[in-house]
Order: sequence, then C-alpha cells, then structure tokens
Amino acid sequence: MAADLSIQPSGPGGDLGLYVHIPFCEKKCRYCAFYSVPLRGHDVSAFLDAVVCELDLYAPSQPVETLYLGGGSPSAVPEALLIGFLRRLLDRIGPVAECTLEINPAQASERLFFRLREAGATRLSIGGQSFHPRELDFLGRIHCADDIGRTVRAAQAAGFENLGLDLIYALAGCSLKTWEYSLEKALALDVPHLSAYSLTYEAPSPLYTDLQCGRVRPVDEELDRDLYEAAIDTLTAAGFEQVEISNFARPGFACRHNLRYWENRPWLGLGPSAGSWYQGRRTTNAADLDAYLAAIRQETFAYAERHTPSPLEIACETAVLNLRKIAGIHRAVFEQQTGYDPLTLFADPIRHHAALGLLDADPEGVRLTRQGLFIADSVLCDFAAIDSGFG
Ligand code: SF4
Repeated sequence: MAADLSIQPSGPGGDLGLYVHIPFCEKKCRYCAFYSVPLRGHDVSAFLDAVVCELDLYAPSQPVETLYLGGGSPSAVPEALLIGFLRRLLDRIGPVAECTLEINPAQASERLFFRLREAGATRLSIGGQSFHPRELDFLGRIHCADDIGRTVRAAQAAGFENLGLDLIYALAGCSLKTWEYSLEKALALDVPHLSAYSLTYEAPSPLYTDLQCGRVRPVDEELDRDLYEAAIDTLTAAGFEQVEISNFARPGFACRHNLRYWENRPWLGLGPSAGSWYQGRRTTNAADLDAYLAAIRQETFAYAERHTPSPLEIACETAVLNLRKIAGIHRAVFEQQTGYDPLTLFADPIRHHAALGLLDADPEGVRLTRQGLFIADSVLCDFAAIDSGFG
C-alpha cells in the first residue's frame, strides 16, 4: 500500500490540542467501556463550570490548534448550556483551526447545528455505528438507522462540510453483505470522513460480560479480516485516503485533533477520566465525576495517575502512535521530536517485520504494509517493548 502523501507530519511544534470529556449519556451502550454517567440527576451546569475552572488552572500559554468535545455525549447537554460552554472555552483559548463535537444522532437538530456553527464549531463527528436496526439494537444505541441520515442532512443544511461518521463492524450475526450495505449507506450521505472500527469487547461493558458468560460470540478472525478489507477497498475506491488503521478521509478532511494523538504532540484533557500529554508528563483524571468536582472545587487537579516518561519511553510511544498512521514514522520528524533515529533504535523489529512483509522501511521512514495493517497490534507491541528488550 502506498503511503498517504497528502497527510504530511506537522512536526512537534509548540501548539496544543484541547480535549473535553463530557461524561453524560442518555443510556449506556452495550459495547461502551468509556466513563459516563446518566444525564438525569446530575448538575450539568456545575460540571461545565468545573471544566472551565480546570482550564483556568492550567492556563496554557501556547496557542490551541484543535478543540474536541467528546465523551460521553456532548449532544446530550441541553442546547443553551452547550452553546454557552463552547463560547466560554473559545473566549479563553482564542480561535482554533478545528473545533469538533461528537454528536449522537438521537440528539441532533438543524437548529442545534446552526447555533454550534455560530458559536465556533467547525466539525461534527457523528456516531452512526450501523444502518441495520438489528445491529443498532445489539449495540444498545438510542437512535434508529433513519436518524443517521437525518442528522447528516441537518448538519449539511446548517453549513457543516467537515463531517465524520463512525461505523462499527464485526457485530455478532453480521456478514460481508450486511457490512457492505452499511458502507454503501454511509457513502451515499457524502460525508468526507469515515471511521470503521472492529467491535471490541472491553471490560467493564455489558457486552464484555455477555462474552464472558458465553451469551455472545465474536466473529471469527477470517470474517473480521474480510470485513476490514472490504472497508479499505470500498472506501479507497470511492476516493477516500486511509489516514490511520481505522480512519478514512477525503483529501483535506483528516481530523487534525486525532492526527495530533498519532503524532504524539501535546494535548490537554479536561473532565473526568480525560488523559493529557502536557509539559512532558502523562496524566489521567479520576474516572469519577464526584471526585473530579471535589478536586476542582479545591482548585487542584483531579489526577488519578501521573507519569513522566523517560526519553526512551517517549520514543517508543511515539513510534507506536506514528505507526497507526498509514504514513507511518517520518524519520526526520521523529528524530527532531525524540532525539532518536528510528531506523537505528528499532532496527531489530523493523528487520524482523519487514522480512515477514508486515513493514515497509526506507531511508525516509517506516510504515505498515497492507498485510501489516491486519495484525497491527502484534507488530506495534514490538516497538512498545524496545526499552525492555526486543524479542
Ligand atoms: S458509546 Fe458513546 S453514547 Fe454510547 S454510552 Fe458510550 S459514550 Fe455514551
């Protein structure tokens, strides 16, 4: 597979990404292992005030390039509160190159989208997941298949060009035919960014429990691979570039915020359970709304974990993240960012996986081959483990 040359690495830079974890959901989806709480019974307004206080505690001096409101379901927040919150954030950080909100199709309206655009949003990421009623039911989604098209059309009518749609494949009972149907329906909506994730059974989700009890069986590896291959072939034939293992975009529509993660460039995460990579430190906030609110009320951070990685750890993390992108590790950028030559530091795993046809390396850098994409996790493991000895 050719490297995606339209997605150039943007280098380490001094700028910042800002992520906000809005922890409210109307109902828990059966596959979801993210931290979220029911909307009802919580003081949403007090939570949004706390997030603004947390931002003030950090008081970042760098320009913020991207703002991303995820969760949870930002669209579950009452409209007036959400618009006011977005305005307060943007007042503090100034104009950003990209401002994304995650949208649940059950919580969308043209009016909301108009107001979000007016307030400064530039991009929406819509959680569609599937166009089959039976699959949506299996996943425990609160929207129906028709809501997805309605949401996309409402966003387009409100002037949003930069739209992403998430899909999940490898659901119990699926086939190549059912997946191709979802892909076709997604393409017909004319959104410039599509994500295709293979279903994972992660603790502590209800589906994980079902798996443990034998109430559900994952699809076999061969079908999973066929479904992934169908996504790559269908989407690239339709003019999408594969940006990352699970993400596809028309030229110019890659998500800049997500590119920042894969390039291992700094970001601040606000809200419960949010992680940050900031000033050389990795931190994770407590996945507990009450503990989060209590800490912020005391004007302290709500860290559950903090770690200052060594230069070698940073190099390994950067390699693993870079390799998720189709463009892979850009040697010169990597060296400037970490101080290590990746072709020397990772010479052993590169030699090993290149001989198996899973990696493609040249003096410019290293990237997964198409074959490598199918077993990316096992390849990436060997880059993560280099500081404890490859092999
Ligand atoms: S998948 Fe999204 S909408 Fe569903 S429970 Fe998880 S965070 Fe909420």
